Amino acid sequence: MKSTRTRAIVVTATMALTLSAAAAPTFAASSPAASSRAASSAAQKYTYDFRTGATTDPQAAPIVKKLLAALPKDWQARRAAFLAKTGAEPGPVGRSIEAQLTGAKCEPTTLNAYVEKITAGIPLPRLFVLALVGAFDYPTYDALIYGSRTDADYSLTPGTTGKVRYTTSVARGFWDIKSGDIAVMGMHSNMVVDRARVIRTVQTIFGVSAADAAQFADLIIPLILDTKQLRDGNNPMFSLNAFAFTAEGQAGLEGIGDRIVMGEGMIKALRDTGNIEVGPQMVLSHEYGHHVQFENHAYPAQTSPENTRMMELMADAYGAYLDSHREGLNFNAERVNGAIALAHLVGDCAVNNPGHHGTPSQRAAAASWGASLAKSNGTTVLPSKQVQALFLKALPAILKH
Ligand SMILES: [Zn+2]
Repeated sequence: MKSTRTRAIVVTATMALTLSAAAAPTFAASSPAASSRAASSAAQKYTYDFRTGATTDPQAAPIVKKLLAALPKDWQARRAAFLAKTGAEPGPVGRSIEAQLTGAKCEPTTLNAYVEKITAGIPLPRLFVLALVGAFDYPTYDALIYGSRTDADYSLTPGTTGKVRYTTSVARGFWDIKSGDIAVMGMHSNMVVDRARVIRTVQTIFGVSAADAAQFADLIIPLILDTKQLRDGNNPMFSLNAFAFTAEGQAGLEGIGDRIVMGEGMIKALRDTGNIEVGPQMVLSHEYGHHVQFENHAYPAQTSPENTRMMELMADAYGAYLDSHREGLNFNAERVNGAIALAHLVGDCAVNNPGHHGTPSQRAAAASWGASLAKSNGTTVLPSKQVQALFLKALPAILKH
């Protein structure tokens, strides 16, 4: 049984269009059509193999060759081992790009639409190379292993610090779990051009020497700096995520404390889509819900799409319970509705994918269930395990949505 856990809120979570009229039409109207055109023309012209790195794209092939020369032949297996050890998953930006370039049939999601917006104009060979070697996840892995709440490199995004700190402090007093060791921090997109941090992260992911990692960094960083749309590493796509992590004594991860990491790119997406008012609290509450699950040993031993969905919907319910409860954030009706709408828009339709977090209507139903329970409890805060038991009873009905 795997003891480590990383649970990310799927980035979709944050780009909900909610009730903000200003941002919504831009994404909803233009992106899906544009995306399918881009994907099909790319797919027709060249092939991009994310398993081997093979590509017929004459601009990408030589760069891939150089980069992979700095890595051992089994680099993919090494990265898979790192992910297995930490419980991390490849991030949604890389997955979205992979789906675009391989022409995978994919439901048009809010996430994909947003990724298309922030990747607009970036040459496909560049996107392929960066996604192939997982560069969109380097800030995540860096924060997972090296992040510290007292280090300015992991500071929370200005403008959200108060909301995030307040929500954390309310959550600590609200839930009946050991929480003193949960550090809340940020991660920043431009980590990907910080040579020293890229080197140590590449060493960690692929288990290579500092010299090989430096060779790799000296190829990938100039590539990022040379791509105008990546804005010297400041494009939000590099940190469009938030996650909860616990090492629970896993060998090789000693000394890495429990944490919640809020990506700067995710905050930017919340802002861009008009969700900055309740978004940071919702994301923090959801991730905190995962720590409640960690502490209560609620995770099933087996990973499956059904189990992932159950745990994600439960985190939505825990989040909405905290946000809505009188002893929690005590959201008013309008904010509760905003939270439910946000949950709706973070849903995905990849029902057979192990990373499936629930469909939009299931996620909204889970949040709505948590909010109703909270409002019916008055000033009584139920023990977290009781909330879990009630949730599991309600789950069959939630899944019918
Ligand atoms: Zn989650």
